[in-house]
Amino acid sequence: MALFDRLQSALRDHVNGEIRFDRGTRAAYSTDASNYREVPIGVVVPESVDDAARTVEICADHDVPILSRGGGTSLAGQCCNTAVIIDWSAHCTRTRDGGDGTVITEPGTVLDDLTAGGLMFGPRPATHNHCTIGGMIGNDACGATAQAYGKTSDNVLDLEVLTYGGTRFWTSDPPEPLGSAVRALADDYEDDIRARFPRIPRRVSGYGLDALLPENGRDLARALVGSESTLVTVLQARLKMVPQPRAGAVAILGFRDVFEAADLAPAMAAYHPIAVEGMDDRLIRYERARRLNLAAIDRLPRGGGWLVVQFGADTLEEAEAQARHMAADLGVRPVISRDVASVAAIREAAVGATAGDAWPGWEDSAVPPDRVGAYLRDLRRLQEDHGYGASSLYGHFGHGCVHTRIPFRRAGYRAFVEEAADLVVSYGGSFSGEHGDGLARGELWPRMFGDRVMAAFTRFKEIFDPRNRMSPGRLIDPDRLDDHLKTRPPDVETVFTFRNGFAAETTNCAGVGECRRDTGGVMCPSFRVTRDERHSTRGRARLLFEMLQGDVITDGWRSEEVKDALDLCLSCKGCRSDCPVHVDMATYKAEFLHHYYRGRIRPLSHYALGWLPLWARVPLLLRAPRPPGLARERDLPRPARVRFSDTFRAEQRGPQVLLLPDTFTDNFTPRVAVAATRVLTRAGFSVRIPRAPICCGLTWISTGQLGVARLVLRRTARVLRDDLDSGVPFVGLEPSCTAVLRSDAPELLPGDADIRRLADRTRTLAELLDDHDVDPPHVPGRVVTQPHCHQHAIMGADADLRVLRRSGADVTQLDAGCCGLAGNFGFEPGHHDLSMAVGEQALFPALRASSGARVLADGFSCRTQIEHGTGIHAVHLAEFLASQPSGPPRSP
Ligand SMILES: Cc1cc2nc3c(=O)[nH]c(=O)nc-3n(C[C@H](O)[C@H](O)[C@H](O)COP(=O)(O)OP(=O)(O)OC[C@H]3O[C@@H](n4cnc5c(N)ncnc54)[C@H](O)[C@@H]3O)c2cc1C
Repeated sequence: MALFDRLQSALRDHVNGEIRFDRGTRAAYSTDASNYREVPIGVVVPESVDDAARTVEICADHDVPILSRGGGTSLAGQCCNTAVIIDWSAHCTRTRDGGDGTVITEPGTVLDDLTAGGLMFGPRPATHNHCTIGGMIGNDACGATAQAYGKTSDNVLDLEVLTYGGTRFWTSDPPEPLGSAVRALADDYEDDIRARFPRIPRRVSGYGLDALLPENGRDLARALVGSESTLVTVLQARLKMVPQPRAGAVAILGFRDVFEAADLAPAMAAYHPIAVEGMDDRLIRYERARRLNLAAIDRLPRGGGWLVVQFGADTLEEAEAQARHMAADLGVRPVISRDVASVAAIREAAVGATAGDAWPGWEDSAVPPDRVGAYLRDLRRLQEDHGYGASSLYGHFGHGCVHTRIPFRRAGYRAFVEEAADLVVSYGGSFSGEHGDGLARGELWPRMFGDRVMAAFTRFKEIFDPRNRMSPGRLIDPDRLDDHLKTRPPDVETVFTFRNGFAAETTNCAGVGECRRDTGGVMCPSFRVTRDERHSTRGRARLLFEMLQGDVITDGWRSEEVKDALDLCLSCKGCRSDCPVHVDMATYKAEFLHHYYRGRIRPLSHYALGWLPLWARVPLLLRAPRPPGLARERDLPRPARVRFSDTFRAEQRGPQVLLLPDTFTDNFTPRVAVAATRVLTRAGFSVRIPRAPICCGLTWISTGQLGVARLVLRRTARVLRDDLDSGVPFVGLEPSCTAVLRSDAPELLPGDADIRRLADRTRTLAELLDDHDVDPPHVPGRVVTQPHCHQHAIMGADADLRVLRRSGADVTQLDAGCCGLAGNFGFEPGHHDLSMAVGEQALFPALRASSGARVLADGFSCRTQIEHGTGIHAVHLAEFLASQPSGPPRSP
């Protein structure tokens, strides 16, 4: 048996967790959030810490390299390697009280999950809602709040670790001879360490040997923090917790440019803020272009550079008083805001906002805080010399840490990074001020530390990992910084039009990992339930990238691995709006399915559900006891006895509007269209419907039958041509159909002028009422609304909120994600459990908790799923407004 087969079978025999050496999993873990790509040997997802320890032991028995991984958000290539990856994030998430304001936690715990009982872990990277404690320890992570609480290494009290050789111990009590070897190393090199280690708050480059000095308490735990899986595997950590400020305020200062902002930053540090963040106008331009944080950006004072100084206290008044005191003392006039989260989000979104156009590589250097302004000017000059002058500059200026992402070209990458490294050394700084070094900067260590300290680093590595099996090729004897660079794969022909081609779409995923967060927004329902990287937006983007690359996934559009990963994608489109680079997995899935099934027999569900708009014209078929191709657990909704379009009579009175009776409304819930007609008529509109049945093609799109979808859309445009010429507004009632007309249709038929006009003309009911300032009937009472996920992604639901508020309703718009049914997804065999589990994540509990409120859901799927999951009968906005007896709305 070959080595990896023997390894797999030993792992299967002794480890309870998942052992995944398949091509799909290896593809999904081939990169992190960096510029690098190295395909792993396989992935183990341990069920427990002991399971992980057995994994290390078995890999050591087979002499195979290992690498630990948490959220996989590393920016310097430290989380991809040709090794067996131990993914801690799925199960190793237990935390217990460690006494005296400490906790003991496992490496897979997500930082935000540690915040409880009024205590929190101090350092807070921007990835706080999905990065793990293991990863923070691996990288010595910091984030904005490190200004007040220090780096991760300042907050780790003790570590339980395991060496590749099998020694397991708590760092507070190291076994012999390891303990003496470490002490001897520190003694031998203490003068060199004192001389060469920069004394700045953000020294993250290099092993933390300074922690071993007697004056620093000979602290082995601290020395191992930041070692990026090259020395030990961390099994548990005892962490210092700090009181969570109950209230916060930010002082926002505008400057002529970012350099002036940086000059003033060190002065702010004296006022004990939680964070002193700086940013330039280019970052703001990036965010505006991607429509991120627009409301918060609008509240920034005028300027070309800003400082955001955050204060925390027990009350809002105290926090604001701190901000005002600082301002008075320094003679500055900030805007003071209590909305800390929205303002902080501008800075936190920076990596996502610049991703795709610019890359990490020199993204987190740090210098003494009082020199940050000068360093920034020199760094900008260097960027300009290399043709990178358009890069944005931002960072934790109070700590001297500068972030920038650069639109690197491969040819000049090495030259720039080497010059930047010399520049930062000339300032007495550190290449990395928080992200770690990985492949991007490991090679540069000798420039910062010199030969003697490098010898000490090598000896440190030999003490813990003499066989060099812990993430080899990183930090000690590293691969070159321009090895393993990820490059865009060759492009392919697609049916959908992608702005820069499909290869660019799959490369755009920057690995930020927002799709791995547990709450808020819609993305990514399947990850939230499975906690499996392959079933996250990022994992799927990686698989598609590898499919085009062709090394691991070798059978292109016919890949079973890609199909399996896409199978659990609900096509909710959540990523299209929630992902910072707007990965649009629903569209990629449709494209993939189109090619995968080309010339092949499809699953029955594609015929049953994909062709539903046609079957719906023959209701007898749908009344059959069980139409074929559907999930056993679900009954297809029954069609109504009479279609809306069969009974509708147009009236000719005021301004006209064309109501679009989609398949679902017309055939299954005609009452919604009847209600919409009543609402529109009361508002003074004269309602018409198309001269023949129309369809947006959604069900063919979601099942990847794109040729038919195009035909259907072309026919719809033909039917509507006279109406398009007449200039009447169109109203769609089913949000997913409206979203297709607004977005998918022009992407499928980009050159078709009628389709473009259709996209521009189609509005939701709420948008039309809102556009025309229609005053809806007065409706007191509580209303809970579940926005459809496609509406969330394409149209947004602000107009619904405005209309409902004008109606006097006490509205709660849920932020509960996708309902889980997602059109055909929940009706397809094999999807029922996931579909219901998605609903149970947030939506069903929220609805159960809101008894007494009326539930509004415009999506046919959402209403169906809510009924299945909770027994609650939800209604469409049109039904809700039409049900009010209080007289007609004001005319447009
Ligand atoms: C958009 C974005 C914003 C970011 N902002 C910040 C920021 O503000 N501040 C900041 O400090 N960083 C930031 N980062 C970098 C990164 O998110 C942090 O360093 C984070 O703490 C990494 O956590 P993770 O769980 O993703 O770790 P991973 O990337 O999975 O791992 C990080 C390192 O830890 C090692 N590791 C993981 N588990 C173990 C273990 N059990 N034993 C030994 N080694 C282990 C890994 O091998 C790797 O070397 C950002 C990254 C992105 C993409």
